[in-house]
Amino acid sequence: MKGLIFGPLGAGKGVQCRKLEKQEGVRHVETGTILRENREMETPYGTPADYIEAGDYVPDEVINEVVEQILRDESRFILDGYPRTMSQVSYLSSITDLSVMVYMHVSDETTLNRLKNRQICSSCNESYHEEYKPPAQTGQCDSCAAPLVERSDDDEEIIRHRIEVYKEKTVPVIEHYSDQLDVISIDAERPHDVVWKELSSAIRPYL
Ligand code: AMP
Repeated sequence: MKGLIFGPLGAGKGVQCRKLEKQEGVRHVETGTILRENREMETPYGTPADYIEAGDYVPDEVINEVVEQILRDESRFILDGYPRTMSQVSYLSSITDLSVMVYMHVSDETTLNRLKNRQICSSCNESYHEEYKPPAQTGQCDSCAAPLVERSDDDEEIIRHRIEVYKEKTVPVIEHYSDQLDVISIDAERPHDVVWKELSSAIRPYL
């Protein structure tokens, strides 16, 4: 399986992909996490942190190289958060073919609500939410017991900017792939376990 997953911020892509990785062994390649883990890496364009903190995309050259290195050794993967610009689309087409795209849709209002009260695990990146997905113990990850933290870019003003950047740069990418690939379209306003049930059965033929 060589897949892509798209959807607005807070659609729950990471939660679904981590399940896919755990249960089906499909490598979850999440560029946001990779960049956060390498936030202070020096590049000719500055560090990833300079862009992440502002809610802007890191330069294509930086992320393209990172993704290429990972895909060199992978034949079963789902890309989450990449490609996000049309220039990343052309780069990706030069390094791999693709079989399917998952699109998870939620409204802007849901995006804002989910991100404003989101916490992520400081170790395994699992995400939690006060209302939709509370941890069993406050402030602690259910899977690995590490402390939960807030993402610095989950601030309301930065979230609004991230939504704008997403609409301007990434919606055209989704439109492009909608014409090229098989699309699994999922209503992600529903609880994570309901979404997983639908997604895991729809994706089975591609595994
Ligand atoms: P995410 O966790 O997917 O919301 O990504 C967090 C931040 O990482 C984004 O706001 C961007 O600054 C950066 N980022 C992640 N993936 C990409 C990408 N494919 N291209 C450019 N920037 C990215």
